Amino acid sequence: MAPVEVKEYDYIVIGGGSGGSGSARRAAGWYGAKTLIVENGRAGGTCVNVGCVPKKMTWNFASINENIHIAEHYGYTIPKDVKIDYGHFKRARDATIQRLNGAYERNWNREGIDLIHGKAKFVEPKVIEVDLQDGGKARYSAKHILIAVGGRPSIPDVKGAEHGITSDGFFEIEDIPRKWAVVGAGYIAVELAGVMAAVGAETHMFIRGETMLRKFDPMIQKTMTQRYEDVGIHIHKGHKGFKEVQLIRDGKGNDKLLKLIGNDGEEIEVNEVLWAIGRQPEVEALNLGVTGVKTDERGHIIVDEFQNTSAEGIYALGDVTGQAELTPVAIAAGRQLGSRLFGPPELKNAKLSYDNIPTVVFAHPEVGTVGLTEPEARQRYGDDKIKVYHTRFTAMYYDLLPAEEKKKNPTEMKIICAGPEEKVVGLHILGLGVGEMLQGFGVAIKMGATKQDFDSCVAIHPTSAEELVTMR
Ligand SMILES: Cc1cc2nc3c(=O)[nH]c(=O)nc-3n(C[C@H](O)[C@H](O)[C@H](O)COP(=O)(O)OP(=O)(O)OC[C@H]3O[C@@H](n4cnc5c(N)ncnc54)[C@H](O)[C@@H]3O)c2cc1C
Repeated sequence: MAPVEVKEYDYIVIGGGSGGSGSARRAAGWYGAKTLIVENGRAGGTCVNVGCVPKKMTWNFASINENIHIAEHYGYTIPKDVKIDYGHFKRARDATIQRLNGAYERNWNREGIDLIHGKAKFVEPKVIEVDLQDGGKARYSAKHILIAVGGRPSIPDVKGAEHGITSDGFFEIEDIPRKWAVVGAGYIAVELAGVMAAVGAETHMFIRGETMLRKFDPMIQKTMTQRYEDVGIHIHKGHKGFKEVQLIRDGKGNDKLLKLIGNDGEEIEVNEVLWAIGRQPEVEALNLGVTGVKTDERGHIIVDEFQNTSAEGIYALGDVTGQAELTPVAIAAGRQLGSRLFGPPELKNAKLSYDNIPTVVFAHPEVGTVGLTEPEARQRYGDDKIKVYHTRFTAMYYDLLPAEEKKKNPTEMKIICAGPEEKVVGLHILGLGVGEMLQGFGVAIKMGATKQDFDSCVAIHPTSAEELVTMR
């Protein structure tokens, strides 16, 4: 048998998503490393294709409907039967994403990165084999190999679960479901339930606890759960899970009918069910056994602070490591790694700081958070070292709504300070516009701002954000 040809690179990146692309572009575009990206799906990965980008576009779509209803109170005449063409929106969204896929590939090409479409696995510690999408196999080797394969949505072990969808399938929906169920309480469940509810879908959320967004500050959990209930989302709390999903009627869109049977015997019929119960790392196909790369009990690749795995010359970052599963985190970790491996000597210790990462949940309303929750801060510093500033009000935008409606649109903010100098160690905000508000405060907190620093900044009036620099 002829020896198998192995093509050599300086840097192989498995996965052309947020982290892989960020790292490859830094290595090749900035430092001229001979780089290969192997991508099994569409360029840009989860964020571009089935994550942040289509999700935020759908949030924008839903927010327009909310604003249309508010417009009436400002004196606009809004027809009672405003039609929503979700199919039109979906096609426009798909086209935008296709353009982004092209932009990713053009950027890689411009920076001299080779792209191979196919599924990679290790065949030796430093050699990968790719099942090429166009057929055949090819082998590649490099001194440095990055695993940035991300994750996929989990599906519960429930009879008939395959009749439902995950967040990937959510982006294939062509009609607004008449009545649907969302199982899960994390940020993806909350976001996707929120957008469909905002455009009129009867939405049932099934959550194990009493509140959603359980990893967030208690203020966020409580107010957001109440807010979702106030706008008519049915939250089934303390839910014991489902034992079966029956396909009552097969069909497209609202012709589909499912029966969900709970472990407690309760039944509900819906047009769709979305499993949003978490994500798992995409490691099975990689044949990590030949490399010595270690994973934890959930399959996440174990890395140190420099993204080194347990195998020399093999690195991992982004969702596959389970570290703060967010696009900018994967990109930033990827860029730092590219700089460390291929940059000048002063960057030989480059790494991402995982502290104080700001993040936004595109719920209705938005939620922003950075730093510690109040329970975390109390545990870390002790009750007597913590001071909490809190405010709740209604944004001026809602002033013209009847009192009952105004109540459904809270803005709430919490600043958590530690020590005598009142260093800000946590900031939690929800309400209109907080998604755009948080980034600047994230910079201040990253710089070590104290409450006094916040207060020394002159307020911008009239805004909601001014409350953050005037809280007593
Ligand atoms: C619904 C949803 C909404 C989200 N919203 C946000 C948001 O608003 N903000 C935010 O910051 N984050 C958001 N995220 C999270 C964000 O998308 C991820 O954190 C980010 O995409 C992780 O990047 P990554 O590079 O680790 O993996 P990915 O982007 O998932 O990229 C991994 C790539 O590897 C490829 N791959 C896998 N296995 C192989 C293989 N064996 N060979 C070749 N290629 C392979 C995959 O096809 C994929 O393209 C969201 C996620 C979801 C699901």
